[in-house]
Amino acid sequence: MLKAVPGTSDIFPQAKDYPFREPVFRYITTTAEEVLRGAGAQMVHTPIFEYLEVFQKGVGLTSDIVVKKEMYVLEDRGGRLLALRPEPTAAIVRAYNEHGMKVWPQPVRLFTWGPIFRGERQQKGRYKQFHQVDYEALGLSDPLLDAEAIALMVRIYKTLGLKNLEVKLGSVGDPEDRLRYNQYLRTLFEPYAQALSEDSRVRLEANPMRILDSKSERDQQIIAELQPKPMLEFLGPEARAFHEQVCRYLAELGVPFSVDPSMVRGLDYYVRTAWEVHHTSIGAKSALGGGGRYDGLSEMLGGPPVPGVGFGIGIERVAIALQEEGIPIPADPSPTLYLAPLDEAAKIEALVLAEQLRPKIYVEIGYAPKSPRKALEDALKKGARYVGFLGESERARGVITLKHLESGEQTTLEPLQLHSLFEGPEPK
Ligand code: AMP
Repeated sequence: MLKAVPGTSDIFPQAKDYPFREPVFRYITTTAEEVLRGAGAQMVHTPIFEYLEVFQKGVGLTSDIVVKKEMYVLEDRGGRLLALRPEPTAAIVRAYNEHGMKVWPQPVRLFTWGPIFRGERQQKGRYKQFHQVDYEALGLSDPLLDAEAIALMVRIYKTLGLKNLEVKLGSVGDPEDRLRYNQYLRTLFEPYAQALSEDSRVRLEANPMRILDSKSERDQQIIAELQPKPMLEFLGPEARAFHEQVCRYLAELGVPFSVDPSMVRGLDYYVRTAWEVHHTSIGAKSALGGGGRYDGLSEMLGGPPVPGVGFGIGIERVAIALQEEGIPIPADPSPTLYLAPLDEAAKIEALVLAEQLRPKIYVEIGYAPKSPRKALEDALKKGARYVGFLGESERARGVITLKHLESGEQTTLEPLQLHSLFEGPEPK
């Protein structure tokens, strides 16, 4: 029997674990949607695959996504290379430019949620196909928007009911600050090049900063020994002032955060503000979500300057956190009436009746003709309020036998009585 690819999952109502339980998933997306719409964000859906360049140019040649070949690349019939989206921001910036959103009132706040694909090694909270809620505020480079994005992200987590959160805020500076920092790191790490992991040796040439968030234990040991100065000490005056303003705004908003002077993010396009939200359930190395500013990304994609700031929330990771905190998820509505046709002829009668009642109430039909006892069991499993039996004797008398499951009270009703029970005139 064929199974789902490891690292991918079905999401369905009965799943044991929260990350794969559909009502949990929906609770997260609808809560996020409410919070983000309340701040003027509009929903967009971009395709799940794009030309490879859209992602390659933005995330950078030294990101894990590219270095470790985590991108799912496919070739179409014309020989063009396409990639399943490994992150949503570059696609949204591409869409902003393609549809001339620059003439809209700025900033343009957009959000989306959907699947993301990264060929990572599978472990708890790390999958090959996962899902993100993503928010982007485009068109202005104002620290106020960074603070607003962080506050919105935190509000999503809080509205969901999460408590054990930690916001870590850093700055990756402007490109020229990073050049200076990378030069410093290269000099520092060069003597240890042979001891570094293979990936980090590549990073040493192209982007030494990336070594700092290496997942290799050997690299982390070398980092601990060398104790490199943090990025924050290399900020130029403009990036520093910007960072301080974001901190000031967050303090004014009452959003708790700590400054992480050595924050580095996995994608190359980030400038200035970078942040992550952590939770006790996931472990220090992984985050519930992260975000940052990406003022140069649009130009990397061949577009005009479009500053922006945004975040991605890992839906599965949030679900793990909700499960760990024991947060109850709103239950799906259950049927008001569970109709049980007891013979073949009653099946179409049940369907006609259900269709008449459905504008008013939630009606489910158990189609396989069965004994009243089995039908009752099924109705209980479904959490129905009433079960209605339709069989030969009901047909002969033109009635339905209705049982209220909580009280156990049973009556026979004529169609008119049934309709008035569910408030409203009998449909013609
Ligand atoms: P990133 O785009 O790497 O900043 O990721 C944003 C968020 O997506 C992370 O903070 C995680 O919550 C989530 N995430 C990233 N990679 C994975 C993965 N492989 N599996 C599950 N969630 C992930």
